[in-house]
Amino acid sequence: MKKKRLVVPHRHMFGPGPSNVPPRILEAGAKPVIGHMHPETFEIMSDIKSGIQYMFQTQNRTTLAVSGTGHTAMECAIFNTVEPGESVLVAVNGIWGERAFDMAERIGARVNTIVAPPGSYVTNREIERALSEHRPVLFFLAHGESSTGVLHPLDGIGELCHKYNCLFLVDSVASIGGAPLYMDQQGIDILYTGSQKVLNAPPGTAPISFSERACQKVFSRTIKPVSFFLDLSWLANYWGCDDKPARIYHHTGPVTAFYSLRESLAVLADEGLEKSWERHQKVAEYFHAGLESMGLKLFVKEKRARLPTVTTIVAPPGYDWKEITAYIMKTHNLEISGGLGSSAGLVFRVGLMGCNSSKANADMVLAALKDALKHCHRSKM
Ligand code: PMP
Repeated sequence: MKKKRLVVPHRHMFGPGPSNVPPRILEAGAKPVIGHMHPETFEIMSDIKSGIQYMFQTQNRTTLAVSGTGHTAMECAIFNTVEPGESVLVAVNGIWGERAFDMAERIGARVNTIVAPPGSYVTNREIERALSEHRPVLFFLAHGESSTGVLHPLDGIGELCHKYNCLFLVDSVASIGGAPLYMDQQGIDILYTGSQKVLNAPPGTAPISFSERACQKVFSRTIKPVSFFLDLSWLANYWGCDDKPARIYHHTGPVTAFYSLRESLAVLADEGLEKSWERHQKVAEYFHAGLESMGLKLFVKEKRARLPTVTTIVAPPGYDWKEITAYIMKTHNLEISGGLGSSAGLVFRVGLMGCNSSKANADMVLAALKDALKHCHRSKM
């Protein structure tokens, strides 16, 4: 262990996450540690709760932040709502559906999938057919499939799920704050996200919310959820979402991560959700037009289904994608990434999220790509 002081480089974080953390949010996270059960911390947690309610467009009482990353919230959603032997349905159009499948399978659920090719999404007709065939208790889909760059349409799916007595679970880790989503209006029963994308907070906290319908299912379980740490009855008490007179120690909340999350939610509320959605959409369209004018192709063909936060670009033939990302990192101090899961080797992924979503940053990525395509090795085909 070296005894010199820690040095970390400044870097343009334009991959699919984490994104850059602006000074206001960084400074919030550097404030003194106080107790996780102190009244001031409970006040901060209450601010977080109302910030999440606004961001998710929900009135749900059971709204909180899980101590952990997006995966923790995924497991919190699935482990609490599903009991062993129950049926779960998962839309798979990239890695996040695959992961949800894996998690549900681990707790002994019977899991069925509806699969769409990478770059595409599942239709309401396919969803209804699968709901009526498999009669699941839970249906999962990723609103922003960050591995393929797809923004999944949400309208009408909540109604379909409820018609078949199924809870609707949505992953909004890569989309929330960057694309329109109305939890209550769209009939979403469980919604979660992460702190490190559009919110521009450091990774490590994950907002989540449960509808009344979801709570009824969770709180009438016959056996306890497999995880103590993620047990919603404990978390709801820690976050003051139940009727109990006092909060009981469950785990030591990461207080400084709560400060950053609180501040990031305040920044989003200051700008306003609609303005933020609009800004992400405009910058994405500007960026996409720039890519196409360079002769690059977008991986998602349908314009409406392009995620405004994470863009997938078809890896240009003849180049080694790893050489390009490494060149851009070394020469421009800028992170863009390759594909993930089914899109591995096929695409570059560029994330312009939260404070990073600006035309100036889009220009910076376009210039870096242009430079890389000029300097990196191209095989003769
Ligand atoms: N879902 C989606 C759509 C994501 O983009 C990510 C992060 N890339 C996750 C879930 C998992 O989040 P984390 O890495 O914070 O666990």
